[in-house]
Amino acid sequence: MAATLLDGRVLAGRVRADVGEEVRELGRLRLVTVQVGEDPASTIYLRRKHEATQEVGIESEDRKLPEETSEEEMLELVSELDADEGVDGILVQLPLPGHMDEARVIAALDPVKDVDGFHPFNAGHLYLGRPTHVPATPLGIMALLGEHRIELDRARAVVIGRSDIVGKPVAHLLLQSNATVTICHSHTDELARHTLEADVLVVAAGVPGIVSPDMVKVGSAVVDVGINRTEAGIVGDVDPSAADRAAFITPVPGGVGPMTIAMLLRNTLRAARYRRGLLAFPQGRR
Ligand code: NAP
Repeated sequence: MAATLLDGRVLAGRVRADVGEEVRELGRLRLVTVQVGEDPASTIYLRRKHEATQEVGIESEDRKLPEETSEEEMLELVSELDADEGVDGILVQLPLPGHMDEARVIAALDPVKDVDGFHPFNAGHLYLGRPTHVPATPLGIMALLGEHRIELDRARAVVIGRSDIVGKPVAHLLLQSNATVTICHSHTDELARHTLEADVLVVAAGVPGIVSPDMVKVGSAVVDVGINRTEAGIVGDVDPSAADRAAFITPVPGGVGPMTIAMLLRNTLRAARYRRGLLAFPQGRR
């Protein structure tokens, strides 16, 4: 049995078209990204994000700062962007150079403009089950599962990875969809014991092939978040022959990746709605 592909390119195309229409109705929207230094992977991701924003009619600006920028200068820029009424969304591209405290920089963002959903205010609301801005990759994963009507209520979901960007937020979203969730990490013994129970398996470890076909439950849905650059090109965290056992599987590339960018656009639209009073943003955000 070959699994049905959870095709992120097709769904992301539809999301982008919808966002484009809503942007036209809403008027001028503006996203500012900030990059410090020249991490090559970050530069590629940012270029894709800017191409996508322009395609849907969101104005975007790429602020590039030199590697040696001090944390104080970075905080000044963030507070300037926070105060700028013409800016709807701010995205600080991670990782920041080692001399900057990422948590301090992210905490300086106005949560309503935090389109990545990394600010503790937004992370806290997700934890409380009242999502505001939610990180784009987990949103993209949930959209792919929803698109294919994969049953989450009463399902056993296993997430490999507990990062603030993917593992933890997707585990919360699965929990809110009434799945029974297990989170695995680098101190989990006998990974296969957990994965073999998973009706829905989300793999975000950044370890190529960490999930082999024999670790996958027959008939399950497998979401491979991994993006690993190898000599053989970009590969995920799941051996592609897991498709022989799973009922649904995301390809790499072309699965979660395109969804992440589409959801960033949606988050920017959401930020603009919050800022125009079209959606209520929770009080007490500072
Ligand atoms: P991360 O911050 O490095 O987190 C990796 C997580 O995997 C950690 O929680 C780690 O456990 C766990 N882990 C590592 N080795 C493990 C092992 N052998 N067994 C079990 N768990 C293990 O990475 P991330 O930012 O979440 O990203 C994960 C992957 O997704 C990367 O390949 C990244 O490039 C990709 N990604 C893709 C997208 C997309 O749009 N498709 C977006 C974001 C990330 P500990 O906590 O114990 O260290």
